[in-house]
Amino acid sequence: MDRIYEDLKRVMENRRIRSAILQQDKYESLIRRYPKLAEIEQRIAQTTEDALLMSLDGVKDESLPEKLEKLESERRKILVDCQLTEEDLKAQPSCPICDDTGYVTVRSSDGKEREEFCVCTRELLAPAMLRRSGVEKYPDYSFEKGKASFYPEDSALRGLYEKLEKIAKKCRVPNSVFFGTSGKGKTFLAVAIAREYARQGRSALVIRQAEALEVMQEHRKVIGSYFTPSQKENEIEARREYLTEAEILVLDDLGVEPKTPNSQSDLIYILDERVLSGKTTIITTNYDMDALKERYGGRIFERLDRDFSKFRFDARAEGDRT
Ligand SMILES: [Zn+2]
Repeated sequence: MDRIYEDLKRVMENRRIRSAILQQDKYESLIRRYPKLAEIEQRIAQTTEDALLMSLDGVKDESLPEKLEKLESERRKILVDCQLTEEDLKAQPSCPICDDTGYVTVRSSDGKEREEFCVCTRELLAPAMLRRSGVEKYPDYSFEKGKASFYPEDSALRGLYEKLEKIAKKCRVPNSVFFGTSGKGKTFLAVAIAREYARQGRSALVIRQAEALEVMQEHRKVIGSYFTPSQKENEIEARREYLTEAEILVLDDLGVEPKTPNSQSDLIYILDERVLSGKTTIITTNYDMDALKERYGGRIFERLDRDFSKFRFDARAEGDRT
């Protein structure tokens, strides 16, 4: 498991312990201030305990529900007298949304429930996600700095920009190829999306295609060698894993990487793993689709054609979505 999620679990555990301790302190001070409350709590505990012991001996206390109801109503009256509410006695978690579990249950549009990180968890993860995403190499590439005016001559690109900004802030951006001549803002938009993901504590990676292939190559070397120190081994393993496991991957500048015996199969591996696990990939390239087909042949082109939306970035054409 990724170390960052282990650390996260520890933070959540610490928060729960902390609020339990605070709760205990608070409870004890309330009990000292209101002896009547202490007494009734004690009587309720005693009654339940007695009933439990009796039931272990096979005797059922028929009057238990009635006794408990009486005691509870007495307790409610005492609370009112002391000007306290149930809330005052409850543990106050650092995060009341998730009770410091770190997760919330959300219902998606198809009615299915799933667990998702709470906003407090996302805030905790964001700095680390930004650091490992590689977006810091592009300090000016963000939705705040860009705004739609970045694409002055092209209303279709402005529309695309605005649409993807909205999607990135809420849900999953589709697999996309941004293609067209350089200097039209392909990398800009892709990095802005990845930055948005990382800010929400979602895992993101921006990497040039050439560098991604180097990671794959390096990993192959490590696997094949008996004498690699294990720290380096772990590091390269983690980098390779992140290529396929980051929630969003931007493969920047496809087409300028040198051809090697493995460059095609490595790219196919990355794309297939990501499509299978439902992770988003954004590819930027100065090539147009025909040139990509020629350079990479059928196997890669077929995947781009089947699994990716295609957006043309240049001033002449309308955003060409297929
Ligand atoms: Zn929370």
